[in-house]
Amino acid sequence: MIGRDVASSYDLDRLSIATLASHSALQIMHGAKAEGLRTLLVSTRERLPLYREFSHIIDEIVVVDRWRDLCRQDVVKRLRESNAILVPHGSLVEYVGHECAENIELPIFGLRTLFRVEASQREKMELLRDAGIPTPPSYSIDEDFEDLVIVKLPGAKGGKGYFIAMSSREVRQRLRELVERGLIKDPREALIQKYIVGVPIYIHYFYSPTLDRVEITGADIRYETNVDGLRRLPPRILEEIGIEPSFVVVGNIPVVLRESMLVKALDYGRRFAEATKRKLPPGIIGPYCLEAIATPNLEIVVFEFSGRIVAGTNLYVAGSPYTHLYWNEPMSVGRRIAREIRIAIEKNALHKVVT
Ligand code: ATP
Repeated sequence: MIGRDVASSYDLDRLSIATLASHSALQIMHGAKAEGLRTLLVSTRERLPLYREFSHIIDEIVVVDRWRDLCRQDVVKRLRESNAILVPHGSLVEYVGHECAENIELPIFGLRTLFRVEASQREKMELLRDAGIPTPPSYSIDEDFEDLVIVKLPGAKGGKGYFIAMSSREVRQRLRELVERGLIKDPREALIQKYIVGVPIYIHYFYSPTLDRVEITGADIRYETNVDGLRRLPPRILEEIGIEPSFVVVGNIPVVLRESMLVKALDYGRRFAEATKRKLPPGIIGPYCLEAIATPNLEIVVFEFSGRIVAGTNLYVAGSPYTHLYWNEPMSVGRRIAREIRIAIEKNALHKVVT
């Protein structure tokens, strides 16, 4: 456990919470300050004008030329001198790459072995199924079917590079075209998933190793272009102009779940935490998100997860309806991370919250 060894040499009275200047960094810095911890931001030059505006919540900025420099020995050394615990967010792996994120010799608040699982559509779905969480059925490219499906291409991000089709014939035809246009190499890598009709719902969780419990910290929906705009047009026009739906995220919208749905939501959150403990010990640490479609029967069908803090939590910098119920004080996920680290230090159990 690379990170645990490093953490054991840290001066716990001078810990810093560190993250990359992107995604949910401001929330993470703000939360750490609220818990009385020091903060350190790793930033490229062009982002400094933004983050310098928030110097009251950022104690140190380590400037790098490129994001990948995070893993340069001198930068790692610099962070260690500040007793830095690195909080991964959605930009970490994307900006620095797998090799760096998985092997960086710093304590990570989170489960670093999950990064690789997250990169593979198939492994991700397998983990969810092993957890006993309902997922959309999928088809193989050799199967014949007549069904509404969403086809997820390898390397697609943020809903870009997906298409919707109505039969195996149509799927094969469109994949062939993509190969011919050089847009994909191997059509077998595409994930062909039943399209679940309902509404999307992203449920945020936090697993606390120190309290051994799963907390629901919030929920959001994503505002996606153009799919969320298509309903403004009459169906007749849509058919005529033949616009394809795309799922490019523009922002996040807050949502609270019907209270009766929380039973299922919490159960799935717990199942996910248990599955990661079984398959990837020590298991998930801190925030994660189950990304689902809620059907008219109020089934929650999970099509994706994120094994770290999601951007939708930025809605709740001053706390969410759920974190308020657990903590009775303004508790963002950023602050919850710092609170977990503080509890771990008090219990002499920092090793439980870093990998
Ligand atoms: P990432 O987390 O990689 O940015 P994402 O969270 O945008 O991806 P995707 O899996 O890329 O989620 O899905 C994009 C959108 O496609 C979702 O918001 C959802 O509306 C839709 N979608 C994905 N899978 C299904 C499905 N099986 N049925 C219905 N809609 C789906």
